[in-house]
Amino acid sequence: MSNFSDFLKKSIDEIKDKGLYRQRIILSENILDFASNDYLGLKDNNYTKEKLCKNIDRLSLGSGASALISGYHHIQKELEEFLADFKQTEDCLVVGSGYMANVGLIQAIAQDGDVIFSDELNHASIIDGIKLSKAKKVIYKHCDVEDLERKIKSYNVRGRRIVITDGVFSMDGDIAPLDKIIEICNRYDAVLVVDEAHSTGVLGKEGRGTLNFFGIKPAENIIQMGTLSKAVGSYGAFICGSKLLIEYLVNKMRSVIFTTALSPIQNFISLENLKLLKDEEFRRKKLFENVEFFVKKSKQLGLNINYHGTPILTYIVGDERKVINLRNKLLEKGIFVGAVRPPTVPPGTSRLRITISSKYSFKDIETLLFML
Ligand SMILES: *Cc1c(COP(=O)(O)O)cnc(C)c1O
Repeated sequence: MSNFSDFLKKSIDEIKDKGLYRQRIILSENILDFASNDYLGLKDNNYTKEKLCKNIDRLSLGSGASALISGYHHIQKELEEFLADFKQTEDCLVVGSGYMANVGLIQAIAQDGDVIFSDELNHASIIDGIKLSKAKKVIYKHCDVEDLERKIKSYNVRGRRIVITDGVFSMDGDIAPLDKIIEICNRYDAVLVVDEAHSTGVLGKEGRGTLNFFGIKPAENIIQMGTLSKAVGSYGAFICGSKLLIEYLVNKMRSVIFTTALSPIQNFISLENLKLLKDEEFRRKKLFENVEFFVKKSKQLGLNINYHGTPILTYIVGDERKVINLRNKLLEKGIFVGAVRPPTVPPGTSRLRITISSKYSFKDIETLLFML
């Protein structure tokens, strides 16, 4: 075997030895999927499918180029206007994915001399964005506003202070204390970046997100990013903020400048799904009825479930192999849940990550619970 293949094989064996081996799985159609982030059941909705068929003739299949060359189409502008209105900001920029949004945004706004204060459980795309930037990174304890303030105070900052946090944390489902975080940002003249990936469509009035949930008004020093791939049930991402911010990003963000814009078809799907997400309150109502049913029933069954007021629930199993065995047992019975292991979560805290969706009945939820 060549040296390189040898290296690949050894690395994979090491992963297997640690019980951390991963594989992609194609789910059969009749499976109960309690792992996806399709909180409102929008990814398969027939209304948008039919509307797409009716409009297909006027939509290009691909965008053709980056947004700055010739890839910026009318439908993307419409989507950006909708999102700016939805998030109540002056302007919006739609980009390829949430990963690209965070990596490009952070690299673009953080300069040499700046200090980024980042929650220890922030999403990997935020961590990678910080790595790509020339700013200094300071990690604060998870959702710990005292630790954040202590650190903001103690660092001598030549440039700007930037605080970054998930609105709803993707692995634990807990909500960042933005009411307190924004106070600190205002007090120390810091920019606040909130990742609204898991809160858009779920929290706040009409699903506007975590900032709205706390009643925080958009401001010059607040940047909201989010993805169109979770509750929106499509693909792509957005950054909402001031007109100046968007103008700056169009000129500076490498994951906008050096990548092809999203397909007009994808943007059409995002826009139509967003309209449903905003207007069809029954979806959010059913989502939270399901969440509350799950929590109540799991208590009755004596299951130790962590619940923080969002549709992301966790069942800590501990050992890496045990969590995989349980996941596989559920899969055999036609139920899919996420098994989350290190390095995504700290060692010894491997867990089932269960996401609730409006598309399920109480009976579906009982089927899952009786298997745990
Ligand atoms: C999923 C997720 C992303 C990445 O979004 P994609 O559109 O899937 O690339 C970014 N941040 C958080 C908090 C996420 O959960």
